[in-house]
Amino acid sequence: MDNKTEITSLGEFGLINHLTKDNKTNHPETIKAIGDDAAVIDTGDKYMLVSTDLLLEGIHFDLSYCPLKHLGYKSIIVNLSDIYAMNGQPKQVTVSIGMSNRFSLEAIEELYEGIYLACKQYNVDLVGGDTSSSRQGLVISVTAVGEVSKDKVTYRSGAKPNDLLVVSGDLGGSFMGLQILEREKSVFTENPKIQPDLGGNDYVLERQLKPEARKDVIEQLDLLQIKPTSMIDISDGLASETIHLCQQSKCGASIYDEKIPIDHTTYNLARDFELDPSVIALNGGEDYELLFTIAQSDYEKIKGSPYFTIIGHITDQSLGINLIAKNGTSHELTAQGWDAFLRKQKGL
Ligand code: ADP
Ligand code: MG
Repeated sequence: MDNKTEITSLGEFGLINHLTKDNKTNHPETIKAIGDDAAVIDTGDKYMLVSTDLLLEGIHFDLSYCPLKHLGYKSIIVNLSDIYAMNGQPKQVTVSIGMSNRFSLEAIEELYEGIYLACKQYNVDLVGGDTSSSRQGLVISVTAVGEVSKDKVTYRSGAKPNDLLVVSGDLGGSFMGLQILEREKSVFTENPKIQPDLGGNDYVLERQLKPEARKDVIEQLDLLQIKPTSMIDISDGLASETIHLCQQSKCGASIYDEKIPIDHTTYNLARDFELDPSVIALNGGEDYELLFTIAQSDYEKIKGSPYFTIIGHITDQSLGINLIAKNGTSHELTAQGWDAFLRKQKGL
């Protein structure tokens, strides 16, 4: 009898749930284990935050258009974003790499230029890691350690009905950057004499190749004296992350399509590619913006801030998670989550 289950039938999140549902923690210092952007550990006066991410060549990045320096930078950024999503400050990182003999010393030095640059920009210390050869390609794993005062830590689980749903920056740019790079790669593969046409798309290319983590957003929240009731970073797309936040908070939500912030470059490119800009903003992923909820009483503090857009509100769980279209009709929001499993299915 064949009792093997295909992992793809579970999806990334189904697999994590399956493997960790019986995980028990024994130490009282372990405040939050699995299920948020970072683990939370009691160190006495403060909480320590720990988050880790794995980047694999061919799954998360393609070296035919991703410069190694950018890749090094991005591998740090994606981890710092998870620390900010807890309302914390990153302090240290460890970096582990596996590489095949295809990589020269100069290539790995370039990767580390990006790693050191990100550490400098975000004031984090590189404190360790591990190095190995790999059979195929490049593997990068980064762990970020941060801290947060106990009264400021923000989980995915604290949203309450009537809270406002807020997002930083704009969405969908990173996905459109990827589309441009993929298009130019396929043109080049067919005819290597044609030079890539990347002109005029700097904004979305930067969003894809050299994203930033929203350190400034955490500082703004502090300045405005706002403690979000819940927060998550948008690595997998607004739809998927809203669903995570609502599941953890046992709430529903209404998001207004017309409120979703989309940069005009992203919007126009989506149109050129015959894609719906809203769908891209909802499902594109890799934007590394912060999605959070605030109490209605904090509305005045946030009103008019160029950092934030109020895109909807939290509702009772029984109402579900809905996208309200421009014509007023309501549709249940489904995540087309842009996770690695899905990328694979799409052949990306
Ligand atoms: P993020 O997108 O913020 O990096 P993930 O979706 O990757 O978060 O992970 C969700 C949660 O599951 C996190 O708490 C993460 O630490 C945990 N997790 C992911 N993979 C594993 C694993 N293989 N074993 C244990 N915990 C895991
Ligand atoms: Mg995250």
